[in-house]
Amino acid sequence: MTRDDWGKMQDGICESVGENNYANWIKPLAFAGIEDDIAHFVAPSAFIGSFVSQNFGDVILSRIAKVSGGVRRLHFNVSKGDAAPIVAAETKRLAERPATPVNDTVRSAPLDKRFTFDTFVVGKPNELAHAAARRVAEGGPVTFNPLFLYGGVGLGKTHLMHAISWELKARSPDLNVLYLSAEQFMYRFVQALRERRMMDFKEIFRSVDVLMVDDVQFIAGKDSTQEEFFHTFNALVDQNKQIIISADRAPDEIKDLENRIRSRLQSGLVVDLHPTDYELRLGILQSKVEAQQAQYPGLEIESGVLEFLAHRISTNVRVLEGALTRLFAFASLIGKPINMDLTQDCLADVLRASERKISIDEIQRKVAEHYNIRLSDILGPRRVRTFARPRQVAMYLCKQLTSRSLPEIGRRFGGRDHTTVMHGVRRIEELKLQDSQIAEDLEMLRRALEG
Ligand code: ADP
Ligand code: MG
Repeated sequence: MTRDDWGKMQDGICESVGENNYANWIKPLAFAGIEDDIAHFVAPSAFIGSFVSQNFGDVILSRIAKVSGGVRRLHFNVSKGDAAPIVAAETKRLAERPATPVNDTVRSAPLDKRFTFDTFVVGKPNELAHAAARRVAEGGPVTFNPLFLYGGVGLGKTHLMHAISWELKARSPDLNVLYLSAEQFMYRFVQALRERRMMDFKEIFRSVDVLMVDDVQFIAGKDSTQEEFFHTFNALVDQNKQIIISADRAPDEIKDLENRIRSRLQSGLVVDLHPTDYELRLGILQSKVEAQQAQYPGLEIESGVLEFLAHRISTNVRVLEGALTRLFAFASLIGKPINMDLTQDCLADVLRASERKISIDEIQRKVAEHYNIRLSDILGPRRVRTFARPRQVAMYLCKQLTSRSLPEIGRRFGGRDHTTVMHGVRRIEELKLQDSQIAEDLEMLRRALEG
């Protein structure tokens, strides 16, 4: 086998090990020749030699064996002169050994194709987090380290991290970006301990350009993982490598986290994703509808449905998204457009589960406060406009923001009939379109109640 032959194998090897691994580990090797059953290589460092031998030895051997059948072993010499092989990768019989999995330690967790900046809808609650993520994704000099993103479940932390990763890779394909969850970090750490490969583990983590660890609250209380994480973290910060961390709460709210880690985490930029508001939810729904309609062309969605969903399913975007997916699948199955009836039907369980915590009491109190009248005036019998209108507004909001039935709402408004409630709700629906003052009142009250 010649150097030329080695050159011709490169594409195939690259395909087997992946581009990143190829660039990091295989490309730096020089083929030195074959002696008996040994293929000799020169590696830039002992570490690279041993890493290749452990992780890609089989891939290389099987390729070489196709050209030079007799080769059974690989030797790696370090380039700085002396010829003594520092590592010998020995393969007894190729067929008996299972293919070596591409090294788990170095591989980034898979990234979701849909989680890009393009598909991320920006609104008030997430604009800061989004701007910070964008900034980091530009690459360039590290200005804040780490970037710490936190917020409740389903608010877009993972989405933003994947988006950063995609963007960085698009801008600089050679950048070594490692994304993984804190759980995966721990798993790989434990595996390295078990396999006595801590040196590799350390070297690999310390050789990344950008490290992203998702859901870092997971390592709270796991002492040795924390310890290792802390060292990795420090090593990277010292080298001015960007670190991006996410958690479901602020650093000082994560229990069982060592203080030195906590303060390290706080030392960069800490930004939170706030719970979604109505506008953001509506925006997200609108953008997801486009994606759904690409999948189910021609499927109509009646106006009002998205607004209803944005009202009723609050905070968690994942649930919102799931609701929409189900709605489209269901509607296409029965061949009907998506209207309110179908929505209520199809999503009964979701709507029940995300039932607003807003109570009728609360609405009545807020409305009384807003119009500067007494609660007893809202509940009482008087029909003068100054009381009747706020009462209708309160009824309307109860219908909108709670899942109470009309008769039930009626009962809670001084024992009124459900037709009275229905009339009140209709009246406000009309007024909302004609009277901008009413529309504004409703909007303010809704915000106050939801906030
Ligand atoms: P987290 O990691 O904070 O729990 P994810 O990033 O997994 O949440 O988001 C949950 C789902 O909601 C994902 O499908 C994500 O694409 C979607 N999502 C969250 N926020 C947004 C947003 N602002 N725009 C578009 N999609 C979003
Ligand atoms: Mg997540």
